[in-house]
Parts: sequence; C-alpha cells; structure tokens
Amino acid sequence: MPSYVSASPVGFHVKDLRDFLDAHPTHISLDPERRTWATEEACLELSNMFPDDTAGEILCNLFLYNKTRDVNRICPSCRRVYRVGEAPQAYESFEAFLARDDDRVPKVNSATREEQDLSGICSGLCFEALIDGFEYMSAEEINDWAHCHAPYLAGIQEAARQSGYVMRNATAEEWASSGIKLIWEKKQES
Ligand SMILES: [Zn+2]
Repeated sequence: MPSYVSASPVGFHVKDLRDFLDAHPTHISLDPERRTWATEEACLELSNMFPDDTAGEILCNLFLYNKTRDVNRICPSCRRVYRVGEAPQAYESFEAFLARDDDRVPKVNSATREEQDLSGICSGLCFEALIDGFEYMSAEEINDWAHCHAPYLAGIQEAARQSGYVMRNATAEEWASSGIKLIWEKKQES
C-alpha cells in the first residue's frame, strides 16, 4: 500500500494530500458551475474563509477539490477516498479498491449523497466532527442531521467493532499539523 494512504474498515484515507493527488490525478468537471470554483479568484476568496494555518490550507484545498470534481471526493473530516454515493466498505487491498466495480459498491441514502455531492463530507459522523469548531449550525439542525443518519452510523460502528479498529477525534496537535478531524486506527492489543 502506498505511504500516502491508510486502510480502515470504511475504505482508504488520504494521509498526504499532495502525494495522493500526484499519483491519482482526476479531471476537473466540465460543468460550468463546478468550473467557477477552479478560478484563481474563487481560490483566493475561499482561502480567506479558512484559518491561516496548515489545517486551514489543507481544508481549503480539499474543499476546492470536492467542488470541482464530478464524483471523486475526499472527505474533509476523515479523508476517506470515494465517489459520490458510495457507502463505507472495507477492501482487500488498495489495488482492489482502485479497481472496484461501481455497481457492486453499497450506496448511501439520498440525504448523505446530497451532502457528499455538495461538500465532500462522507458521513454524518464526519459531519459532526468537522463542524465541532464551527458556529453556523444550531443544535436542532445538528440533531436532525444525526437522526437521519442513525442507521448509517450504526453500520460504521459495527464495522469498526468487528475489525478491531477505533475511530477517534484528532488531538489539537494532530489537527493543527494535518487538518484531519477523525482518525481511524487499529486498537492496541493489551
Ligand atoms: Zn468521512
């Protein structure tokens, strides 16, 4: 497995964004609306909305990537690589993942799909983790979101339990240096 990705029960996560994009470039959408995000002006305007630090820069790049691609996404929270609509799933190898057959990948519900399309956030759990530090959503809205994703979250939790992985929030230091919010890791055997 290349060093720029890591595996988990929900698929593969990008550890190094630049190396990943170098190895797996994807085309910018031909859709005029998506292409408006690919201009220098949009880039500059957007970068002003994110904190002026490493995490902010990475988030900004992820947001631009997700906005300018038709279906390719990298979750800004957990960094899962996927196509819009794809539900979490474990793969035998990175090669098997890259060669996956679209028709055989389990799909998410329509509300999650919409969020994936819009922002690239891949699950309700990732959504909650990412907006932790953001102020623009009311508690009721967050609850609604969590509620409509409940069956999906249960699936992720079950997959993690079975495979011995844990998902945790990044520490402040990890967040500052990598811009990752949710971290998947193998549980330490005690
Ligand atoms: Zn995610």
